[in-house]
Amino acid sequence: GLASSEPKEGEENLRSPICCIMGHVDTGKTKLLDCIRGTNVQEGEAGGITQQIGATYFPAENIRERTRELKADAKLKVPGLLVIDTPGHESFTNLRSRGSSLCDLAILVVDIMHGLEPQTIESLNLLRMRDTEFIVALNKVDRLYGWKTCKNAPIVKAMKQQTKDVVNEFNMRLTGIITQFKEQGLNTELYYKNKEMGETFSIVPTSAITGEGIPDLLLLLVNWAQKTMVEKLTYVDDVQCTVLEVKVIEGHGTTIDVVLVNGVLHEGDQIVGPIVTTIRALLTPHPMKELRVKGTYVHHKEIKAAQGIKITAQGLEHAIAGTALHVIGPDDDIEAIKEQAMEDMESVLSRIDKS
Ligand code: GDP
Repeated sequence: GLASSEPKEGEENLRSPICCIMGHVDTGKTKLLDCIRGTNVQEGEAGGITQQIGATYFPAENIRERTRELKADAKLKVPGLLVIDTPGHESFTNLRSRGSSLCDLAILVVDIMHGLEPQTIESLNLLRMRDTEFIVALNKVDRLYGWKTCKNAPIVKAMKQQTKDVVNEFNMRLTGIITQFKEQGLNTELYYKNKEMGETFSIVPTSAITGEGIPDLLLLLVNWAQKTMVEKLTYVDDVQCTVLEVKVIEGHGTTIDVVLVNGVLHEGDQIVGPIVTTIRALLTPHPMKELRVKGTYVHHKEIKAAQGIKITAQGLEHAIAGTALHVIGPDDDIEAIKEQAMEDMESVLSRIDKS
């Protein structure tokens, strides 16, 4: 049993939801995450990461801080939120697909000045194929002509500061985009007018530059996840973990970046993926820092899901991105798990051959 993950009386024992951010290139996906993190990945803090899946962990206390102005009485029941970011370039459809397959829910970013674009439709199709719920971030509202900046303000408060012309342009563009979604067979509505979440997808107007609507987006994501996904977010004993990247890091040898979707990992755990080895170190970036970006790491004795983690161990050069990482428990049959890992690897490799 996992003593540390057993529920306390009267409390739900939920893991952090995993949210991916999707949408057409240049709609502001990276900038939105930068705005929430307080980083500057978009302007090149991170060289050469655009070909990798990324992960950032937002602890509940940061989310609470950022959403304070909304005076939400709702209690945060999840420990945090893990956001997965996938490469935007057209040729990385497989990585976007892999990234989105890990997610409990998604943010679909749409540029208010451009409406739905080809990769918006690609994202929509991926989300529908997997039955993943999503929230639309209608980004770049600050580009509406005459927009008055209300830095980091909740969107309703920001809208109240705008002139009639700005509100009219906003409404006109919003109506057009709702129609475009309708043409894709989807009902969408401004989130604070949406009375039937689940049936109708919510739209949160945002600016990644001036921060309007960001509190709304965070609160809506977390509240919705913990309200509607309790079963999916409840801890299980079996580790569910996927390899994102295999890479050599100076001073650590070959490491793997993984997303721990459920369960707990410990230093010293025996893992199979595909060779049997032992976790030497469990490393994460600091909270609100991107896993892909080179920086300093925090060492952990154990880590609870969901998290983006860098693992060091012997023999990781044999690991393959896209495969599952299996953990051998005290009662497990090593041979059976090895066989499962081989099958998994072959299926990932055959998919690569085909694409
Ligand atoms: P991505 O390709 O979806 O990750 O988009 P980026 O985050 O790289 O943003 C693309 C461009 O749009 C950059 O020049 C950003 O500075 C700009 N941008 C992103 N979000 C906003 C926004 O909310 N308002 C404005 N005015 N520009 C934005």
